[in-house]
Parts: sequence; structure tokens; C-alpha cells
Amino acid sequence: MNIAIFGGTFDPVHHGHLAVARAAAERFQLGRVYFVPADIPPHKQTQAITPYYHRYAMLALALAGEKNFVPSLLESPEIIQAEGKLASYSIDTVRRFKQRVRKVDRLFFIIGIDAFMDVAKWRSPVELLQECEFIVASRPGYSLNDVASALPETLRPAEQVSRLFKQQPAGGDIVLAGTTIHLLDEVKEAVGATKIRSAVATGRPIANFVGPEVAEYIRKLQLYKPGKPEPGNPEPNRLETLTVRTNGGQAEHRKQLHVVGGRSHRKNP
Ligand code: ATP
Repeated sequence: MNIAIFGGTFDPVHHGHLAVARAAAERFQLGRVYFVPADIPPHKQTQAITPYYHRYAMLALALAGEKNFVPSLLESPEIIQAEGKLASYSIDTVRRFKQRVRKVDRLFFIIGIDAFMDVAKWRSPVELLQECEFIVASRPGYSLNDVASALPETLRPAEQVSRLFKQQPAGGDIVLAGTTIHLLDEVKEAVGATKIRSAVATGRPIANFVGPEVAEYIRKLQLYKPGKPEPGNPEPNRLETLTVRTNGGQAEHRKQLHVVGGRSHRKNP
């Protein structure tokens, strides 16, 4: 079976994410797409992120009617803490996932082009790019050369090849030794989670960007709204200490999460 992991923050999940997953599923005959919300995404450690469980709950609601799309707990706080890690890294997720699937399954990793631009700065990027095929959801304005230049140096195509890529929009496939990157250029949903959060905060409607169940959850839990919290949930402006133990419990790392309005800011990375 062809299977994909779709990693992201999903704060909240929106129509753009679903459009990307649907387009990828159709093009690559994906039997399953696992949406993997990151506990503490390494690239977003200094910015406020809604607690994992709210983001997971919204994903579960959004995917309820999608037969082949599955919410995944592979980067849940419990898994990250059990492994003694301070953040969720895609290389660990992919390797964890590969232990659970059959050797004959073909594995893809779905990602947006803006996130892919930083791939060389991720943990073990060369190994990650060689573990599975990548499906990169392209957006207008990016060229094939942008995609090739974002690769870690050892995987980048030769200068003469990259030069040819300059005029070409990011579409088609880039096949390199041990790495295949498929560019998905059919999704034209101009929506992002940042836009949704700021719409909620300023009282603008979000019905065009998220499904009704997700909109209702945001409303009910008073997510993304400054001010009084919903009484059945944690108080804002609360300091939480998260203790991460390594496997033998020998070493212990401490970091503080500053919870503001239900969104946690990582203070001491
Ligand atoms: P934020 O604005 O908080 O960064 P986001 O929606 O852009 O949120 P994620 O929730 O992390 O980002 O999304 C997961 C992946 O989906 C990312 O790789 C992102 O680039 C991609 N993505 C999100 N929205 C779209 C869209 N409208 N079209 C194509 N790709 C998208």
C-alpha cells in the first residue's frame, strides 16, 4: 500500500491541509494519509502554540468523515517524553513509523513548500530524505531551483542542472541519488493557520477556512481568543514545568512552558 505521513502544527487544521492531502492521495494512490501533529515542533520553539490535545482533537473532528485520513499520535507528548527527547523530529517519526508498516509498503512524507525550504536545517536531513519519498505541496512563485537549493549540500544537483531549473516553476519530480521529491502544484487554497488564528482573535468569520466541527470546537473552547478562558480548561498565564526523563530515568531535563491563553510558549529551549 502507498502510505503518507503529513506532519505539521495543525493549529488549527484547515481546508488547505485537506486539499493537499486529497491531491496527494489522488496522484499517488495513497491508501492512508496519517496526519501527525507535532508536540513541540523544532522550528516553532519560540512561538506560541496551542496545546497538543486541542490540535489533535481538531484533527480528529476534521478527519472523521475521511475514510483514508487518520489522525496520528506518533508525536504525542507521551511518545516524545518516553524517548527522552525535547522536541519532535521528523527523522524519528519516520523511523518509528517504518517499524510499524510492511516492507512492501511505499512511504511518502507530505510537506508544504514553505516548510521544505528549511529542510537542510532539520535533524539528519540527508537520512530523512533517503528514508522515504517526499511530496512537496508547491505554491506559486517557487521555482524548481528553489526546491533544489533547499536540499542539504550533499544531495543538491550539480550547478549546471540547477541553472536549468531556474526558469521552471516548482512542478514535476526531482529524482536524485537516493532521494525523490514530487512537486504537487495543483492545490490553490490560499489559507494558512496564522490567518485563521488572527481572524478568530479579531472576531472575523472562519467558516471558509475550516470545517463546521472545527469552527465549533474553536468557539466552544475559546481558542485563539484573548481574555477569559473557558472554565473547564487550564487557566491562562500559568507556568508549567514539563519534566522529560531519558529511558533509564538517569538524566532529567527541565524546561518551562509558559501557558498564555492556553497557548504554550517554550521558555528555556
Ligand atoms: P502556520 O500559519 O501556523 O505556520 P500552516 O497551516 O502554514 O500554519 P502547518 O499547520 O504546520 O502550517 O501545516 C502543515 C503543512 O501544510 C506545512 O508544511 C504547510 O506548508 C502546509 N500547508 C499549510 N497550508 C497550506 C496551503 N494552503 N497550501 C499548501 N500547503 C499548505
